[in-house]
Amino acid sequence: MKAIGAIGAAVMAAWVGVGCSSSPAAGEEAAPGAPNAYASAPTGVERLYVLDCGVGHAADQSRWTVGFNAGQPIDISVKCYLIRHRQGYFLWDTGISDHVATMKDGWLRGTNPATDLTWRRAKTLMAQLEEIDVAPEDIQFIGISHSHPDHIGNLELFPKTTVLIQKLEHDFFFNPKRTGLPMAPPGSPTPEFSKDHPVTLVDEDLDVFKDGSVFLFNTAGHTPGHQSLMVHLPQTGWVMLSGDAVHLKHNWDHKRIPYFFRLHLEEKLQMAVSMQRMDDLLELYDAQLWIVHDKAQGDTLKHAPAYYE
Ligand SMILES: [Zn+2]
Repeated sequence: MKAIGAIGAAVMAAWVGVGCSSSPAAGEEAAPGAPNAYASAPTGVERLYVLDCGVGHAADQSRWTVGFNAGQPIDISVKCYLIRHRQGYFLWDTGISDHVATMKDGWLRGTNPATDLTWRRAKTLMAQLEEIDVAPEDIQFIGISHSHPDHIGNLELFPKTTVLIQKLEHDFFFNPKRTGLPMAPPGSPTPEFSKDHPVTLVDEDLDVFKDGSVFLFNTAGHTPGHQSLMVHLPQTGWVMLSGDAVHLKHNWDHKRIPYFFRLHLEEKLQMAVSMQRMDDLLELYDAQLWIVHDKAQGDTLKHAPAYYE
């Protein structure tokens, strides 16, 4: 697989240099005490809104914290993020389907509450966009970290918006032999992800607005074409949005690879490589890491209609 074949110091140096034409060249080291050139680079980003895109309940959190906290239940958050760039709006992930907001017992995706997650949604994505006066057609791009239902649940509410997805992820999702649990809740009025949806297929990394201020980077492992996002805010600085390259602060701090029965050894190794890449980028850009499913961290963020600049 591509990411594993790419291990090596030279490639790691090239990896971390992604995205920014006005920033230092890859591998170039700043003088000690010098201001971080990535942090002081100009940015076209104006605002970032954090949107509540659902909550999941699991009976046993040790799937993510392998060897620890066995049998302990956990609630995980789901966030979406709307970025206002001077060239247009960019939505990062679409969360659990808005239809789940109508399901009073939530959506148990599967049949076994001991092993399957139950998803709930207090407020729809559409209501939150309406509150900040953003219509679906105002959104120029949707980037998705990967094709799981808590991230693509509302894609087809934006049928004309171009979706930025890794090519490997697109191939994975539309593989006719794909099996597993349903991707959309029962009774959902919209399809899960239509093959006719306009897409841009990303190969490794993408500088979304071509000015280095918002870029996607490959963090394969959780799924074959998983990606994460870096965004440069004028006041807040650089923020990394994890997707599911990491699930909880616990597994990030201890670099624990979650246990999923479908995850093969090669994919676990990819997750480890991806976490190292994230670590390198966080250091290089002096960035914060926002972990989409870590509810304790997510609860500390201000949510729309408030925003970060
Ligand atoms: Zn997820």
